[in-house]
Amino acid sequence: MNVAVPKETAAGERRVALVPEVVERLVQSGLQVTVEAGAGEGAHHADAAYEEAGAAIGDGFSGDVVVKVAPPTAEEIGRLGDGSVLIGHLQPLTAAETVRALADRGVTSFAMEAIPRISRAQSMDALSSQATVSGYRAALIAAQELPRFFPMLTTAAGTVRPAKVLVLGAGVAGLQAIATARRLGAIVQAFDVRSAVKEQIESLGARFLELDMGLEDAEAAGGYARPLTDEEQQRQRELLAEEIGNMDAVISTAAVPGRRAPLLVTAQAVRNMSLGSVIVDLAAETGGNCELTEPGETVVKEGVTIAGPLNLPASMPDHASSLYARNIQSLLGVMVNENAELALDFEDEVIAGACITRDGQIVHEGARDAAGVTA
Ligand code: NAD
Repeated sequence: MNVAVPKETAAGERRVALVPEVVERLVQSGLQVTVEAGAGEGAHHADAAYEEAGAAIGDGFSGDVVVKVAPPTAEEIGRLGDGSVLIGHLQPLTAAETVRALADRGVTSFAMEAIPRISRAQSMDALSSQATVSGYRAALIAAQELPRFFPMLTTAAGTVRPAKVLVLGAGVAGLQAIATARRLGAIVQAFDVRSAVKEQIESLGARFLELDMGLEDAEAAGGYARPLTDEEQQRQRELLAEEIGNMDAVISTAAVPGRRAPLLVTAQAVRNMSLGSVIVDLAAETGGNCELTEPGETVVKEGVTIAGPLNLPASMPDHASSLYARNIQSLLGVMVNENAELALDFEDEVIAGACITRDGQIVHEGARDAAGVTA
């Protein structure tokens, strides 16, 4: 089986789907790998390093299986061979046009976002590996933008109090933001609507912010949060607005899969913050957790710096690519037989769950709903 790696074409995308270290392991297991010239450049891997690892430099769309990072463009879908397999981020719940084009092209596609979050598939979980990068970077952006120290300092010129940081949403990105802000010495509080995360927040040395929302627990299927009702959201925003006023920095990461990000930080909450404070809104990509966020921009509003970074994993391409490549390697492991041939077992929970299009049809339920296709 030949695995092909194209050079990513999306603006600002510096990651690559396979790194030489992983290519070497795949080749040792009997697979052939073809890498497009320059594919690893953004993540600091030269073509020569891929060749040394056993890959050929050539057409990134020629393989039985094409592995990508960003969703394919229409042009890229056109380059996929009939009956080929594509693995990558496909945004199955929101990018209906891409999904329809893949089905029309006869591509068997697998979305990294749709891999079931079960123990057996943890090593394939790209949502987690990339969210780890985002959370880390978000805390660094907050520290960088804040005109104050994160840690407490005792100096000859006086004592500096530590920064107060609030992390909203304690999924994978939020927990990493908490850990990073703690390592920098900030006093961290965090809030999530899933009460299961209280312990995890506390184990990182942060405090769980108790909001009197009259909410038992908003955990839904698969460990994700359920959307809150309008009244619950309103109450949450009001309670948060008060708390946010006491913070130096807010890092917001709250998300509900396939939906617009919940609005948690109102313009009033921003006004409650002291001048110079910072908000880093990781949910900018899906509409933002803060009312004043401008996706892709860092703006100053009401005297508060509000950063709405997009695609943070691409801003740390080396490790983001290494982790992603290991996720891909692990997924390929369940797709090939002992002779290193493609052998897709659609009875397998992981294969079936991640499959978006097959035999000209959209087979993933969520993607079908998003594309308006009735079963
Ligand atoms: P996510 O990116 O979908 O959401 C981020 C966080 O925002 C979540 O913790 C969510 O509860 C929270 N949130 C949603 N609405 C909110 C609101 N109104 N206010 C405050 N917070 C809000 O989440 P994720 O990081 O992808 O993780 C989702 C779940 O998947 C977690 O339970 C996580 O433990 C689980 N998970 C499982 C595995 C596995 O078993 N393989 C791996 C990783 C994560």
